[in-house]
Amino acid sequence: MQTINNFIGGRFVPPHSGRYLDVYEPATGMVYTKCADSDAADINDAVSAAKQALPAWSNLPVEQRAALLYRIAELIDANTPELAAAESKDQGKPVWLAQSVDIPRVAANFRFFAGAVLHHQELATHQTVSGGFALNYTLRRPVGVVGLISPWNLPLYLLSWKIAPALAVGNTAVCKPSELTPQTACMLAELFNEAGLPPGVCNMVFGRGATAGEALTRHPEVPAISFTGGTKTAESIVKATAADFKKLSLELGGKNPNIIFADADLDACVEKTIRSSFLNQGEICLCGSRILVQESLYAEFLRRFVAATKNLKVGDPTSPDSFMGALVSAEHRQKVLGYIALAKQHGGEVVAGGEQVNPGGRFAGGYFVAPTIICGLPQKCPVVQEEIFGPVVTVGKFSTEAEAIELANDVRYGLSASIWTADLNRAHRVAAALDVGQVWINTWMLRDLRVPFGGVKASGIGREGGEHSIEFFTEVKNICINVAQQKG
Ligand code: NAD
Repeated sequence: MQTINNFIGGRFVPPHSGRYLDVYEPATGMVYTKCADSDAADINDAVSAAKQALPAWSNLPVEQRAALLYRIAELIDANTPELAAAESKDQGKPVWLAQSVDIPRVAANFRFFAGAVLHHQELATHQTVSGGFALNYTLRRPVGVVGLISPWNLPLYLLSWKIAPALAVGNTAVCKPSELTPQTACMLAELFNEAGLPPGVCNMVFGRGATAGEALTRHPEVPAISFTGGTKTAESIVKATAADFKKLSLELGGKNPNIIFADADLDACVEKTIRSSFLNQGEICLCGSRILVQESLYAEFLRRFVAATKNLKVGDPTSPDSFMGALVSAEHRQKVLGYIALAKQHGGEVVAGGEQVNPGGRFAGGYFVAPTIICGLPQKCPVVQEEIFGPVVTVGKFSTEAEAIELANDVRYGLSASIWTADLNRAHRVAAALDVGQVWINTWMLRDLRVPFGGVKASGIGREGGEHSIEFFTEVKNICINVAQQKG
């Protein structure tokens, strides 16, 4: 069986411990590969390699760094079918989704930040007048060796969203991809070598969060950590890094409201709500898992939404007809089914799905769950309040705009929201009143890589995207020059 080794200093090397973790194919429930079960010793090696590579990489002319990132993007394009098939096998998502969304976005991330650093302008010179005069200007420098920790839902898409800006501005990196989905990160490392990325500029250490991940966050020579993952994990990272005052970017969970007013374009809204509820098996932090519908539209919306949901095909991820594949792990499936059981205990009515799916044959042991719609839950029920991160949505009612805002804001998360209405004034009012990092009006997950991305409350700290990523991965230093008065 093929094994996934760490990528340190441009070479694939086994973990010091000699231990490996089983990696499962979610659609079959079978172990299909093994990945390094790394620990602090492997993290030390990777940080040393990154440190060694830092001076040359950060001093390379920006055109040369950008050219390497463009070359990586080209190689990703050329390898899209293989990467998409691997992402699907590793994560459980349909191949068509990885092929049309995940992998193109990986290439786009490298292209975007290659272009961004080439066109980046510093507009920060200040003339200070106090008696005589002085000039202040700022220098922007890479932070150093950065730690990049990513989750399993959009494995390469999210990891590359960190690698590309970190490298573009001259940092070197140690990445810790999710232990559940290590495959495409390993393939990306091969492409780094093919592109000619200097050894040590980007290293991958595979393994568990509690060992490899924590060692990376605690490493004294890693001054910044960019983390995407669960809110609970972020709590441990904040504690682990507090004494060293590390720079942190935390992109965390969500329980996003999808607010539908009575004047919404129902055709467009139902079509998009199917995607915002169940795309990628509902395993997207931006999924609109709390649907709130204005009373007068509630029955009609629900009728159409339930009918469309019951038509969704769940099964073989290689089939273009499968809208949903398998959940990432048996443990995650248990968690999702647990929330469905809890909803029933709290008086919820399951109007679609609610059970496991067995596509049979090769996929009989896979982790498939039907797209599930639950109505009639009280606002304080944990199923309405907590992130499930699976194909489960709740649908509730509201009567007024004020009530919609109150319900939408009444959770600990604040990542994103969608608003469906034909009234633009209302759309702007409600968007401004929501406690979230981004709002979509009459759409969902329409992404522009330049815009700020991130959450408030328990959904995170900091913003990624465009200038915000460049800001995070650099330190600015102000320099003040006193301009001497003319003597005599
Ligand atoms: P997770 O927090 O369990 O794991 C994320 C990563 O952190 C993994 O690589 C894991 O090994 C590592 N990790 C775990 N414990 C660690 C520790 N103590 N120290 C350092 N690293 C540690 O999250 P997950 O289950 O992989 O992903 C799902 C979560 O990610 C959901 O909550 C989802 O909302 C969130 N997410 C957020 C965004 C966003 O942009 N806001 C995007 C995608 C996913």
